[in-house]
Amino acid sequence: MKNFNIALIPGDGIGVEVINEGVKVLKFIEKLDDNLSFSFETFPWGCEYYLETGKMMDEDGIDKLKGFDAVYLGAVGYPGVPDHISLRDLLIRIRREFDLYVNLRPITLLNEELTPFKDKREEDIDFLVIRENSEGEYSGAGEWLYRGKPEEVVLQTGVFSRKGTERIIRYAYEEARKQAKTLTSVSKGNALNYSMVFWDEVFEEVGKEYPDVKTYSYLVDAASLYFVSDPGRFEIVVTSNLFGDILTDIGAGITGGLGLATGANINPEKKYPSMFEPVHGSAPDIAGEGIANPLAAIWSISQMMDYFEEEEWGEKILESIIAILKNKEFLPRDLGGSASTSEVGDYFVELLEIK
Ligand code: ATP
Ligand code: MG
Repeated sequence: MKNFNIALIPGDGIGVEVINEGVKVLKFIEKLDDNLSFSFETFPWGCEYYLETGKMMDEDGIDKLKGFDAVYLGAVGYPGVPDHISLRDLLIRIRREFDLYVNLRPITLLNEELTPFKDKREEDIDFLVIRENSEGEYSGAGEWLYRGKPEEVVLQTGVFSRKGTERIIRYAYEEARKQAKTLTSVSKGNALNYSMVFWDEVFEEVGKEYPDVKTYSYLVDAASLYFVSDPGRFEIVVTSNLFGDILTDIGAGITGGLGLATGANINPEKKYPSMFEPVHGSAPDIAGEGIANPLAAIWSISQMMDYFEEEEWGEKILESIIAILKNKEFLPRDLGGSASTSEVGDYFVELLEIK
């Protein structure tokens, strides 16, 4: 019997509503599988907590989370609490302190009706973006000089360490080898003459250890075009923090939107718990109405199962999402249906039992 300890941080707004449905799925898996069990502990952190206590999470929050196998996060954000505080003090803090340097974003079209392109089928959009998640353009380094003066200058520094660049690229090569897929590096060496020239060099160097992996290297502008015009050419993509952030939202746009976008924040060494989350935010405009789409949060559970090496469950969850999208009876509002958040979850577990 395998037991996994999962820390729940539902957060704010629809985060709470969709995490409920994810937990419903986990409890159902536990029921169906005699060899698996999960234990849960809920942490009430987020913007509401901040408004009550002045803190996004407890001082010793990181220590509290340390012993868990995974963190399952809803969303953080609240009108009146600036994003840079809420994200910095919770989401980014956990990513930093647990060294979750790999961000995995599947860009997979689960149903052809969800893409804005008339000529694209499911098999045309099915790839994985591996985004550097710990440094790069989002290092926070920089300087604000002569503020308010005519000679004002602002510097925002990208930090690309040997260690940080090598480990993400190596992770991507390993993944490409394991899955026998091509690997595409996305960078911008023709304009960012330090960081991206270095990135390209490391990509080539590490590649020497993986002669079996077929590689491509694209400039980010060209890659953006291909994400839209010819996504079929990608299998595994590795890129920097900023480029990955932008490209994966393009990816969400071509595969059904935020209600279906999931992301995993991984510490591959398993020294710390990895974190799984739907990509969307707290969506204050629909919070509390029970109409949020829980499928992104449920897809995160599929990623969590893969991470736990329970890939069969990961696959079954994905198949059940595909089935929901196909038969259309229980589609949530954002996908053109009228099912409530909990109705989608209830129907989902029924499907899971059949699969
Ligand atoms: P935050 O401030 O936490 O980032 P947000 O308003 O920016 O919240 P996003 O998640 O970025 O929320 O989403 C933008 C809009 O997309 C939402 O306001 C909502 O209308 C819609 N949306 C996002 N996620 C979902 C979902 N799971 N189900 C239905 N609609 C969603
Ligand atoms: Mg947002």
